[in-house]
Amino acid sequence: MSNHTRYTGLIDRYRDRLPVSPTARVISLVEGNTPMIELQNIPRMIGKDVKIYVKFEGLNPTGSFKDRGMTMAITKAVEEGSKAVICASTGNTSASAAAYAARAGIKAFVLIPDGKIALGKLAQTLMYNATIIQINGNFDDGMRLVKEVAELAPVTIVNSINPFRLEGQKTAAFEIVDDLGTAPDYHCLPVGNAGNISAYWKGYKEYSTDSATHKAVTNKRPVMCGYQAAGAAPFVAGHPIDNPETVATAIRIGRPQSWDFAIAAQQESGGWFDKFTDDEILAAQKLLSQYEGIFCEPASATSIAGALRDIKSGKIPEGSTIVCTLTGNGIKDPDIAIKQCADAKPITIDADLDAVKRAILDCL
Ligand SMILES: *Cc1c(COP(=O)(O)O)cnc(C)c1O
Repeated sequence: MSNHTRYTGLIDRYRDRLPVSPTARVISLVEGNTPMIELQNIPRMIGKDVKIYVKFEGLNPTGSFKDRGMTMAITKAVEEGSKAVICASTGNTSASAAAYAARAGIKAFVLIPDGKIALGKLAQTLMYNATIIQINGNFDDGMRLVKEVAELAPVTIVNSINPFRLEGQKTAAFEIVDDLGTAPDYHCLPVGNAGNISAYWKGYKEYSTDSATHKAVTNKRPVMCGYQAAGAAPFVAGHPIDNPETVATAIRIGRPQSWDFAIAAQQESGGWFDKFTDDEILAAQKLLSQYEGIFCEPASATSIAGALRDIKSGKIPEGSTIVCTLTGNGIKDPDIAIKQCADAKPITIDADLDAVKRAILDCL
């Protein structure tokens, strides 16, 4: 007898905890169930006794955690009879919305900041056949316009102000608790529009208060650490900012929509916000690739920059278990990666055995 069941996506797995009706047509690309990878080399290098896991959300179907929210948002949009969805995006929301809309057979409109979107994300959105509207403005301008146009045109907003987005995204916290058997001591993640930190906190809270449905249920909740780019750090400043700027385009946001939820997550969990320069973010991205073999996008590496700074300073004490969310896949942003490795030029030689041998021996 086999008790094998195929994983079919996060709505099926956590249906008892999600607002989906039994008859709904589920729009899924089998998202979620992403790996938790324990870092092996970096903790040793910094000489601290900590357990650091990365939750690699870059392994979702379109390469970012946005798919968790999008399976819910598009499932609900279809259930409600919507024929078109719209979002403002720094890239990953547009790729995800476009993919799930294609799957559902409805239309997607995406507003993106002109020239400030990573190449891979643009390629995805084009391939999934969304209608791309580039604006001469930033994400915050796009967000304002999306909210205004949704009042006038028959389109459903699938940004994280759509509450179903956070419902889907909270399942990442469930998976972490199911994996570890308990919540971590600290949860570190990048903060842009602040939907994700809000969703994780919602997930951890729900799992810690519910009884026996899932074996791993525990009362423990992590301290939430929200990390931002120095040029786009409204939570560190304590107020929205104009003209956010950072190499980490996924978090180039000055007016986060989930402001109150994110502040509640920080305060209720006893956590904090902090900010990192572009150089620090890129150094963390390189470190993780070079010493662990895990390639995330720049915004995602902010969680690593933050965790490492706070572990080194003792703010996160030895003996702690830490989970860092790697929000997106590094191959989405090849330009930044190649620029960063400009010194590591390929070795060019003749197509000749001796020359290859010499090139290898020179490097050993
Ligand atoms: C969307 C995104 C973020 C920011 O998440 P918010 O919910 O907007 O705070 C961070 N990293 C990546 C890769 C993203 O796509």
